[in-house]
Amino acid sequence: MGRIQSIQSFSTFDGPGSRCVIFLQGCPMGCIFCHNPESWDLQSGEELDGTTLMRRLERCRPFLHQPGLTISGGEPLMQPGFTLEVIRKAKTSGWHVALDTSGWGPAEVFQRISEACDLVIFSIKHPLTPEKLAPGADHQNILTNLETLAGLKIKVWLRYVLLPGWNAEPDCLAKISVIAKGLPNLERLEVLPFNSLAVDKWRELGKDSPLWRERLPKVSEERIIQAEQQIGWHKSNCSSMGV
Ligand code: SF4
Repeated sequence: MGRIQSIQSFSTFDGPGSRCVIFLQGCPMGCIFCHNPESWDLQSGEELDGTTLMRRLERCRPFLHQPGLTISGGEPLMQPGFTLEVIRKAKTSGWHVALDTSGWGPAEVFQRISEACDLVIFSIKHPLTPEKLAPGADHQNILTNLETLAGLKIKVWLRYVLLPGWNAEPDCLAKISVIAKGLPNLERLEVLPFNSLAVDKWRELGKDSPLWRERLPKVSEERIIQAEQQIGWHKSNCSSMGV
């Protein structure tokens, strides 16, 4: 059985093409900019077995050009057995499966689940001191899982939410560049702007974050382009691994 926060029947943001997204309950990272804080509690949400979940997903299939499924959260590795079961069931039924992860989780679990997918979307919070933005992050664990990922024949997308004043300094972006160049299977790197739309959710949940007190200005498109240039990653940096 798994704990599901929600199912989004159509997304063009969470992987290639159009796809369904499952948001699983449970996340230990505690990111101070999280857009989905209601997903943190592993005991909340709807309890479903894998077969019932797949039956619901199949109802979305006619609306998708090619069936794509992204397993997100929360952190899907908080429910490793259920996540793996859903990935295998979906693959058997012909879905393209992506895992959307923060890189949290024991190395062997991370590897087993990543290997079962077609794509891993790895969201890096802070490349030098992640615990600054995500109090539940373990930097060494994240680096180990990135190393594991570099050795797999699975496509990888890196995502980086840019928070000026927190993780946009040149040393952070230089480290992102090093990480990107160390992933021969990297297909895409996305720098995304932080926005404060989740502030009301945090307030409703009685949670607090230093970001909401700071009132960070909106991150402009120019700032994103500048960050991408500082990272200096381009698809041509990748060697072809046939993934
Ligand atoms: S890893 Fe994702 S779900 Fe978890 S706290 Fe961070 S942003 Fe929120």
